[in-house]
Amino acid sequence: MARQDALLRLHKNLLVRRSELRKRLGLELEELAHVKHSSASGDAADAAFDSSGEEIASTLAELESKELAQIERALRRLKAGTYGKCEGCNVSIPVARLNALPFSTLCVKCQREVEQYGGWGAGRGEADWGKIADADPMADRDVNISDLEIDLSK
Ligand SMILES: [Zn+2]
Repeated sequence: MARQDALLRLHKNLLVRRSELRKRLGLELEELAHVKHSSASGDAADAAFDSSGEEIASTLAELESKELAQIERALRRLKAGTYGKCEGCNVSIPVARLNALPFSTLCVKCQREVEQYGGWGAGRGEADWGKIADADPMADRDVNISDLEIDLSK
């Protein structure tokens, strides 16, 4: 199957999953509101039962809203044409990996680096800061001197 077709199929699956999640989240939030309402008027035993039910419902709702956010993000990336591109090295993530992990934004190599060094962004950021610290004082001095020279020649 061509990559484009695979991405289109993934897109369709994500849309289906999103509407599923939205419907379920809506029902669960409704249920939560109902549970809160009924526990206010129930006796102690009812209240205990209700609060455990409420906990399960709110945990589920939390997980589902997290997945929903991931789906929204993937859909935005699909629309922007950046879906399936590794955020680390910009290679095309293989379709097999995207099918298994539709929300993956890193290729296997970069994912391994993240797991090994505890964050691709963190490691890269530190390297950049080192360079900036070395280069900046000189660059600033050069700019200042040339500014002074320009002022004196006026
Ligand atoms: Zn990569």
